[in-house]
Amino acid sequence: ANKLKNAKLVLLGDVGTGKSSIVLRFVKGQFVEFQESTIGAAFFAQTLSVNDETIKFEIWDTAGQERYHSLAPMYYRGAAAAIIVYDITNPATFTRAKKWIKELQAQGNSNTIMALAGNKADLLEARKVSSEEAQAYAQENGLFFMETSAKTSTNVNDVFYEIAKRLPQA
Ligand code: GDP
Ligand code: MG
Repeated sequence: ANKLKNAKLVLLGDVGTGKSSIVLRFVKGQFVEFQESTIGAAFFAQTLSVNDETIKFEIWDTAGQERYHSLAPMYYRGAAAAIIVYDITNPATFTRAKKWIKELQAQGNSNTIMALAGNKADLLEARKVSSEEAQAYAQENGLFFMETSAKTSTNVNDVFYEIAKRLPQA
């Protein structure tokens, strides 16, 4: 029998790293060069079938601006999964990602599945954060790591698929 499972998921990370673009790619299969910046947070739902289960992701795409920081716990509290996004061409966004991970470890639900996504992987010539460094950090902190590109769609579905596989049995 096909089981239906709901999973609250939140995207966190600096403004401009591509959170909304990852969601747009996953939900609609689209990419836009001039994605409007998110105000507060935006909600999306998308289902994914894995084995004999259908996962309904309830996705909160947060803004990332510091002035909305106090709202973040509303989105990550009780989340089954969090995708923490940085931009591989911008080291400051990797630093910010590590801060989000620390905050989640301190304030979040210890069962939240965390994924670290190094986005804009299509911009290889402009890379400033090595995949080895990010992989090592992820491993030390119990997250899984993938480099993604919302532009070319590389690994975008895979991140959600990996999360789906790690969700607890209903
Ligand atoms: P957010 O603030 O984290 O939601 O970031 P956005 O999704 O609004 O993206 C910020 C900018 O980066 C936009 O101009 C996007 O078109 C661009 N962008 C997002 N993802 C990628 C990607 O994978 N590759 C490239 N080259 N640009 C991207
Ligand atoms: Mg956004």
